[in-house]
Amino acid sequence: MRARADLHVHSNLSDGVHSPSELLSIASDLNLGALALTDHDTIDGLVAFMNAEVHGGPIRIPGVEISTEYKGVEAHLLGFFVPTRAPKLVKRLKVLEESRRRRFPKMQNRLESEGIRLSDDDINQMLQGVKAPGRPHMAKLLIQRGYVKDIEEAFHKYLGKGKPGYVKKEYADIGKAINLLRSEGAVPVLAHPLTMRLPDIRSTLIELRELGLLGVEIEYDYQHLRLNVKPGEVQAIAAGLGLIETGGSDYHGDGAHRDLGSVTVPIRIVDSLRKAHEELRNGSSEAISE
Ligand SMILES: [Zn+2]
Ligand SMILES: [Zn+2]
Repeated sequence: MRARADLHVHSNLSDGVHSPSELLSIASDLNLGALALTDHDTIDGLVAFMNAEVHGGPIRIPGVEISTEYKGVEAHLLGFFVPTRAPKLVKRLKVLEESRRRRFPKMQNRLESEGIRLSDDDINQMLQGVKAPGRPHMAKLLIQRGYVKDIEEAFHKYLGKGKPGYVKKEYADIGKAINLLRSEGAVPVLAHPLTMRLPDIRSTLIELRELGLLGVEIEYDYQHLRLNVKPGEVQAIAAGLGLIETGGSDYHGDGAHRDLGSVTVPIRIVDSLRKAHEELRNGSSEAISE
């Protein structure tokens, strides 16, 4: 495992279960060569992640996973080698967090017309300390209250797209998010592209590369999403375009995703990411126009 890297993992600073240092301990027990922390829309876990005292642990890559939008489709953008202090990025993520919090009273109202009564206190309590509030949090509350038996039912009945409690999330534009990451020296990589169900993945990747995208997540378990897709096709396109091919488990610690270290890429990918990061930091990469 020393030669392998898991480049997609969430902590309890977004919607994962484990703290950043617990993640490092698990990775260390697995003898994993490198681990990237990529919380949803927050970099608050990075200081703890980089400073945790874990002996013989993996190489640590500070990262993030930003919820963005590409032509009306939700697109997750990974950033690798994010500085623990990234003021412009933090400011932008804060704006998105606030807009996500405003989504909850709207969901609450809609659910009320379905006969579901949730008080402001319930909502506030649930969102306390949560950095990237989203529908899974609302789903947990519905389970607690006995309205549904599990997350799947919550989405199927109320929170999924087109269901009575659904409220659209506000996303960052993917081009702006790519630029923002690059300006902080972080390497932008498109996460699990096949969840986007695009008709033409090649032209999307060409377009995103022109916007400054440097990599694509190739190794990913789409099976747990019940997506019957062929990642090999994307791999061939990414290779042809000279994009860095990353991969990871998307571990959340909640049993609904794969285990940490179960989806990995060779450690040389970390070297490619580091090289790209250094080029961005030294400004030797081509400037990308707005
Ligand atoms: Zn994602
Ligand atoms: Zn993720």
